Amino acid sequence: MTDGYGIDNLPYGVFSTADGGPRVGVRYGDQVLDLAGALGDPAFAAPSLNPFMAQGRARWTEVRAQVADVLTGGRAALRPLSDVRMHLPFEVSDYVDFYASEEHATNLGRMFRPDSEPLLPNWKHLPVGYHGRSGTVVPSGTGIVRPSGQRRPPGQDVPDHGPSRRLDVEVEVGFVVGTPSPLGTPVPTGAFADHVFGVCLVNDWSARDVQAWEYVPLGPFLGKSFATSISPWVVPLEALAGARVPTPPQSPAPLPYLREDDPWGLDLSLSLSLNGQTVSRPPYASMYWSPAQMLAHMTVNGASLRTGDLYASGTVSGPAAGQRGSFIELTWGGKEPLKLADGSTRTFLEDGDEVTIGGTALAGRVSLGEVTGRVLPAVPS
Ligand code: CA
Repeated sequence: MTDGYGIDNLPYGVFSTADGGPRVGVRYGDQVLDLAGALGDPAFAAPSLNPFMAQGRARWTEVRAQVADVLTGGRAALRPLSDVRMHLPFEVSDYVDFYASEEHATNLGRMFRPDSEPLLPNWKHLPVGYHGRSGTVVPSGTGIVRPSGQRRPPGQDVPDHGPSRRLDVEVEVGFVVGTPSPLGTPVPTGAFADHVFGVCLVNDWSARDVQAWEYVPLGPFLGKSFATSISPWVVPLEALAGARVPTPPQSPAPLPYLREDDPWGLDLSLSLSLNGQTVSRPPYASMYWSPAQMLAHMTVNGASLRTGDLYASGTVSGPAAGQRGSFIELTWGGKEPLKLADGSTRTFLEDGDEVTIGGTALAGRVSLGEVTGRVLPAVPS
C-alpha cells in the first residue's frame, strides 16, 4: 500500500491544496501529512523547506521521529496525494553540478576528444564541477522550452543561431544543503551529515550542440542554464542510511582533504524513460566520487554554504550500454539511434517528447519518486 513511501522513507515536499497555499508536507503512501497542522512549528507553514532545513541536524532527527509517531499513532490528518499540487520543494540558493561518474566522463571524453586520453589529467584528483544557474531549477512537470543558441554544425567554419538540434538530458542525483557554513571555513568530509539534509532526483537538460561550441575554455554555460528539473520529494539522509555502499576503489589516493575513512556512495537504482518506455537503468553505486568528497571539494577554498544549496552528482552512467544516463551516450553522439517500441527511432529529443527519471533504494522500499518534463517547441525568433 505504501509502495516505497512507508515509514522508512518519509520524504519532505511542498504542496498546496484548493483551500490552502504552499506549505511543507511529508509523503506517506499515497497521502500527504500537513506538517504545520500536525507539529505546530511555523517553519512548516513556509512555501519552501528552507526554514526547516536551516534548523539543523538535531532538529531534523527530532522531527523525523515525531512524524513517525504521528503516523503510526493513527492521529494524523492526511490528504490524498490526488488532492494536492506539488511545488519546488526548496528555494535553490547556489547550484553546482559535478561530473563524478568515471564511465560518463570517459564516454564523453571519447566522443568530444577522440584523439586523446578520455579522462583529463585532473579527473582522478578532484571532483570536476561547475557553478550552474539556480534560478532556472524548476519542479518536476514543468514544460521545457527548446532552447535556441549558437552552434557550429559539422563541416561549417562559422556558427549560426537557432533552436538546439541536439537536446538531451542527464540522469543525476542531487544533494540538498540544510545547514550553512561560514565564508572562509572549509567543510571537511566528516561534516557531511551535519550539512546535507537529503537527496532528490535531477534532470540536467543539455543542448549538446550549444555546449560543444561554447564550452572551451570555461565550461558549460548556455547549453545547460536554460532549465534543470528536480523531483518534488526530498528524501532525508536517514532514509538512505541502509543504502550506503563503498565507492569504487580510488586510485591514486586523493589528497588529504578529500580522504574519508570509508568513502561511501549510495546504491540507488535509477531509470530513464522516454514517452513511457524505459531506455536506461543507471546505477548510482558506480559513481567514483562520494557525496562527502564533492561537498569537501566545493568548500575547500573557503566558499560558504547556504541553506538551499543544491549540488548534483553529474550524469550517472554505469559500465553497460543500457546503463548510460544521457542520449548522447545511449546513441553514441547520435550515430546509433535508439529504436523505440512504437517503431520510431530517436537520437536527441523531439518536441513533445516526455522524459522521466525515477529512482529507488533498498529494493524498492524507499522511493525517490520521479522527475519528469516535456519538451515544448522553441520560441520563434
Ligand atoms: Ca550535468
